[in-house]
Amino acid sequence: MTPLTGSCLCSNIQYRIDLPDSEPTPKIALCHCTSCKRATGSSFSSNILIPAPTLSYTRGSPKTYNCPSDRGPPVRRAFCADCGSPLTTQMSDNPGTLIVKTGTLNEGERERVSELGVEIYAGRRDAWLGAVGKVDSVEGMI
Ligand SMILES: [Zn+2]
Ligand SMILES: [Zn+2]
Repeated sequence: MTPLTGSCLCSNIQYRIDLPDSEPTPKIALCHCTSCKRATGSSFSSNILIPAPTLSYTRGSPKTYNCPSDRGPPVRRAFCADCGSPLTTQMSDNPGTLIVKTGTLNEGERERVSELGVEIYAGRRDAWLGAVGKVDSVEGMI
């Protein structure tokens, strides 16, 4: 598969994701947990889940912050220390999977990652926001 590339707002951090051809284009998972709300400054986060070794930084390296997750085990959040863009999260009990914020993908590639797959922590969806699309809503983590 053609690599997916992305960057933070100031471009000091850039990354590429090399998924094997056997891997389907990842679907988007929206997360409504309180931790994601605060970390993104928004009502939910928009993510893709990829095998951790497939992401490499081609410029700079993010700062990380460990915080408790809504379900307990800490989450490692990686972000740009210069502009603050959230880039990835990683669950401490699932280090093999990297969760990438889809808003950081470069334009053309964000169009390739266009299918919504699931909403998680749907029980914490902000009241003004209805279900997004016709996908499964899960109360907790998947
Ligand atoms: Zn930046
Ligand atoms: Zn979350």
